[in-house]
Amino acid sequence: MDYLPIFVNLKQQPVLVVGGGEIALRKVRLLLQAQAQVTLVATHILPTLLALQEKQPGLAVLNAAFHPEQLSGMKLVIAATDDSLVNQNVFNLAEAKGVLVNVVDNGSLCRFIFPAIVDRSPLMLAISSGGNAPVLARHTRAQLEQQLPRSLADLGRLAEKNRDMVKSCLTNINQRRAFWEQALTGDVARLVEQQKFKQAQRSFENGLKTFQTPGGFVSIVGAGPGDPELLTLKALQAMQKADVVVHDGLIPDSILDLSRRDAERISVAKKAGCHSFDQSEINTLLIKLAQQGLQVCRLKGGDPFIFGRGGEECQALKRAGITYQVVPGITAAAGCAAYAGIPLTHRDHAQTLQVVTGHCKALGKEPNWRCLAQSRQTLVVYMGLINSATLSQKLIEGGRDASTPASIIEKGTQPEQRVINTRLGQLSQDIEHHHVQSPALIVIGEVCELALELGWYGHKQEERNDDSLRTA
Ligand code: SAH
Repeated sequence: MDYLPIFVNLKQQPVLVVGGGEIALRKVRLLLQAQAQVTLVATHILPTLLALQEKQPGLAVLNAAFHPEQLSGMKLVIAATDDSLVNQNVFNLAEAKGVLVNVVDNGSLCRFIFPAIVDRSPLMLAISSGGNAPVLARHTRAQLEQQLPRSLADLGRLAEKNRDMVKSCLTNINQRRAFWEQALTGDVARLVEQQKFKQAQRSFENGLKTFQTPGGFVSIVGAGPGDPELLTLKALQAMQKADVVVHDGLIPDSILDLSRRDAERISVAKKAGCHSFDQSEINTLLIKLAQQGLQVCRLKGGDPFIFGRGGEECQALKRAGITYQVVPGITAAAGCAAYAGIPLTHRDHAQTLQVVTGHCKALGKEPNWRCLAQSRQTLVVYMGLINSATLSQKLIEGGRDASTPASIIEKGTQPEQRVINTRLGQLSQDIEHHHVQSPALIVIGEVCELALELGWYGHKQEERNDDSLRTA
């Protein structure tokens, strides 16, 4: 993060603007909206600024050159002159005094920057590209302007007006949060949108009188394979509602950061040297949190019911009488294959798809290798890195050709995604040679040949040395 976004209360606070042109005028208008006490100093001053001074008690215009003493007591300084020496001088002096300074259109001389704004006061959105892509910021702002109804401002004012009343009726913070979640959607929002403010207020008050705190609830949510944009809408809603997010180690920060900001995050990841939770401890934790009346989001990589032990968590919750929902996610097989350009089934290559775990315990149980080794089917192996040598040996013994195309997809759907295209007979050598790290998925089958042609995401394709197969 290059800049910390904060909202500053400038009501009646002294601010200096150096410069008297169009840009200074725009900044002055914005500062006056924020109710700042603005002093403008310039040698050339637009008549509009002088006229504004007549109407606005918050603005004092000085027709003079900039002088260091004018900085005294100022909270913010904006330099908007067309003289780079003056701007530099203002910057140096402000920095020396510890006053926050912005030299317009000169990123290297800015201690703070002005974001693009979507104003639905009291709701306010600030968008910034840190000065690096102002057009992108403006474009985003235009999109948000279209998407956010004007009535959000009215809804915000209704919330503002009723805040104290809600606080005195509902003394518990979790209770209040649950109430607001409910109150600002549905009927009240619809009535406000239709500008029926009295009815909206009545509906709000009724809602408060009859409000019942919802009991604890667990959402077992699939977060997909890593790209945050592969989250479902329902997953996002559950993450935004949750008081606490209990998550696995596979979930990247870019997804976790979409949870409600003040939600508690509990990692149950297995990390070397740290205490890791076993499944029964995770079950107990979920039950305990729900029994405290909390909305719990149990966030898991991929899909909760595919090698995710989501079934065991549901069983434990059911036994404890806790209500829950399961939100499916895009499983690694679907996500990684799509991003690697491998159609898991294809009329010319594979009519069957088998999904297996390469985990040692499962291998110990000896799956039906002949069945897994059949040709013209795709085999996807989760957690297959460690046992890859045994896996390919057993499949070859079971009848699958050693030259069958295979792909290893590391960190699929994420910016670091790497796809290694190999053959069944060379699988474990390639895993070692390329230092493949977890999480990685192994796909075996004729369809892997298509990755060379159809791969579209990222640039890390490690192709086989042997290109006989490419023309096969
Ligand atoms: N429930 C998850 C699977 C959990 S098992 C799902 O439905 O996807 C963990 C295994 O999934 C990892 O060892 C790896 O084999 C696979 N995996 C999960 N995310 C992955 C990713 N982004 N890239 C490659 N493999 C992934």
